[in-house]
Amino acid sequence: MTTIYAARWVLPVSSAPIEHGAVAVDGPTIVGVGSVAEIQLRFPEARVESFGESVILPGFVNTHTHLELTALRGYLENEEHDFFAWLRKLTLARLERMTPEDIRDSATWGACEAVRAGITCVGDASDSGMMSMLALREVGLRGVVFQESFGPDPRLSEENFGKLRAKVAELREIESELVRVGVSPHAPYTVCRPQLELIAEFAIAESLPLMMHAAESKAEELLLREGVGIFAEGLAKRGIEWTPPRVSTIQYLNECGILGTRPLLAHCIRVDDRDVELLRETGAKVAHCPKSNAKLGHGRAPLAKFLTAAITTGLGSDSVASNNTCDLLEEARFAVLLALKNPLLTVSQMVRAATAGGAQCLGFEKGIGVLGEGYQADLVVVGLDGTHQLPVYDPATTLIFASSGRDVLLTIIAGREVYRDRRVLNVDEERLKARINEIVRKLS
Ligand SMILES: [Zn+2]
Repeated sequence: MTTIYAARWVLPVSSAPIEHGAVAVDGPTIVGVGSVAEIQLRFPEARVESFGESVILPGFVNTHTHLELTALRGYLENEEHDFFAWLRKLTLARLERMTPEDIRDSATWGACEAVRAGITCVGDASDSGMMSMLALREVGLRGVVFQESFGPDPRLSEENFGKLRAKVAELREIESELVRVGVSPHAPYTVCRPQLELIAEFAIAESLPLMMHAAESKAEELLLREGVGIFAEGLAKRGIEWTPPRVSTIQYLNECGILGTRPLLAHCIRVDDRDVELLRETGAKVAHCPKSNAKLGHGRAPLAKFLTAAITTGLGSDSVASNNTCDLLEEARFAVLLALKNPLLTVSQMVRAATAGGAQCLGFEKGIGVLGEGYQADLVVVGLDGTHQLPVYDPATTLIFASSGRDVLLTIIAGREVYRDRRVLNVDEERLKARINEIVRKLS
């Protein structure tokens, strides 16, 4: 049974906007994209759903999330000035105060927020990969769940790597068309060099995508370049030996073999021109997280340089513990505004980064990220007739500068409607809301 979704505008991303456009969907697949008249002629038997003054575009791809931390939204505001304290409070809450069920409900709540904002695919870094996978599956969200690995102590690198391997083996059992498994050595300051090397080899041998936090904070840069600062002090307190490599994070990750995996690197704020060139040469990808970077005071990543160098770049919200919302339209707007309206950055590039760019970052470029025949039917309808949006001269401009995830009317993943009429269709949101309130009572 074919369904035609029609709207005033269709933004295929891979081709020019279509006024009075339509997308025909059959099962999980897009079977036609064009003007309403043309598509109705091609599929005369199809059911037609018209959304009027709205835009249909590929679903948004959020390349960097931590859905399991959704219950920590607003929990760490007082620690934001001190990244070390922020990480410590977060880790304690997650490891010692939240049960596996809490983590699962937290991740599911985050997945609900995502599809409500038109996000159809996530790159989710998770300490509890199994809970994240279950959350994605429950809501019907597509994504890669990157199982995190921690371990700053080289003496424990084999043991910690063994734990990662075991977790990945379990996750692979429940991999599906929609939800895939990857690995994520957390960051250069939480994973020691031998462990980074082991994980890089493993990722290549097992063809696992790899995501990692990189070049995010001043503290990280001090640790790597000079072996001083709060991260260095933290390691010393734990009796962990650290010899600074005295290079940038990106060069260090190259030395450790991580760049050989063509990784997805989140943040990449503290990068110089040589680092950008290294990212380009090695085929590394960037998850640009402008709001989280600003909220934690880490700075601005050189987005225009990434795009000029043709580095595959997507947008990421990071966790709502730092960003407070999971909304790629907000991320896209911040990306342009924080780049001080660099003339190299256009609204259509931002729409691309939020869709096709993100799909490429996560290795889904053959299936999603654009509206084209044969692609997966991951699409979103965004209303454009709000008081805050009218008048509309150009739909991409209205999307990026005057809209947010709250304007999303419909979210479809692999042809299946997951959000419509202000409701997430596959889950009991009231039950989840009560559970989140329970977790909050426990944490506060
Ligand atoms: Zn992150």
